[in-house]
Amino acid sequence: MAVWRSKDLLDGEAAGSLTIILRTRGCRWRRCTVCGYASEGAPATGDDLLVQFRAATKDLSPEDRVVKIYTSGSFFDPLEVPPPARVRILDGLAAAGVEKLIIESRPEYVTGEAVEESVARIRTEVAVGLETSNDLVRDRSISKGFSFEEFAAAAKVVHAAGGSVKTYLLLKPPFLSEGVAISDALRSARDALPSSDVISLNLCNIQKGTPLERIWMLGEYRPPWLWSAVTVLKGVKGVPILCDPVAAGTRRGPHNCGLCDEAVAKAIREHALTQDAGVFEDLDCRCRTAWEEVLALEDLAFGSPLGSDSRRL
Ligand code: SF4
Ligand SMILES: [Zn+2]
Repeated sequence: MAVWRSKDLLDGEAAGSLTIILRTRGCRWRRCTVCGYASEGAPATGDDLLVQFRAATKDLSPEDRVVKIYTSGSFFDPLEVPPPARVRILDGLAAAGVEKLIIESRPEYVTGEAVEESVARIRTEVAVGLETSNDLVRDRSISKGFSFEEFAAAAKVVHAAGGSVKTYLLLKPPFLSEGVAISDALRSARDALPSSDVISLNLCNIQKGTPLERIWMLGEYRPPWLWSAVTVLKGVKGVPILCDPVAAGTRRGPHNCGLCDEAVAKAIREHALTQDAGVFEDLDCRCRTAWEEVLALEDLAFGSPLGSDSRRL
């Protein structure tokens, strides 16, 4: 179990949030090429989860207006979080006066009953890892195992039950060039808009033991440039778009040249809380030209990603 405090967007303003990672048996799918959670998880009964939950919330304060409970899988998977334990967790949060709960689930575990049960106790947002609206990319590049249609159907169920939907998009799945990755994320945000109350742009990073790590070690993948993230964040309209640039500035995470990474990542974090694209206006660095050249060269000259041989860029 892990727990930490941060800030989250709540009704258009920054609010205190508590993130709790419950150690469950883990995701049942475990096949996504970019996901390091596949190797995590250990058998955990409902009682085990309640012990973890109580430990995580023992210092809950009125400042913690949002609580996020993540399981490295699906909160609504009854094998991961047995329904009686789920209800007791929901009751606990409601009794503590928490305003909003955010959980994650694959579409196949989203049922009207599960969402209603949650919404009856606490305002609930269900985060779904759509990653891209392109079924081919989601299937071949990520191995996600569900279609855009299944995502949209699950979003409908959440909305009909009174919940809200957070859609995760992945910037730069493997095998996409930098430029195609940007277009894919922009297009995906447009396609996901009718199903989403908020979009979260996840910048692909290389997690240990994943197929993506093997591709990266062969020099066939470079994590997205932070300039690409800025382009997508500026280009998405009509829905709040969040982004937490995890591992920014490292070789395994989204990065620019090393000199400007900290400033750009800071602006991205600020944008997540303010939705003000003005935070990007004063950013510049010499590497911006190199990034523009990568976009042009990959798509026009080579027609394929330059890979991590370009990581010194
Ligand atoms: S569904 Fe989510 S948790 Fe499961 S393997 Fe894929 S990315 Fe990982
Ligand atoms: Zn730079």
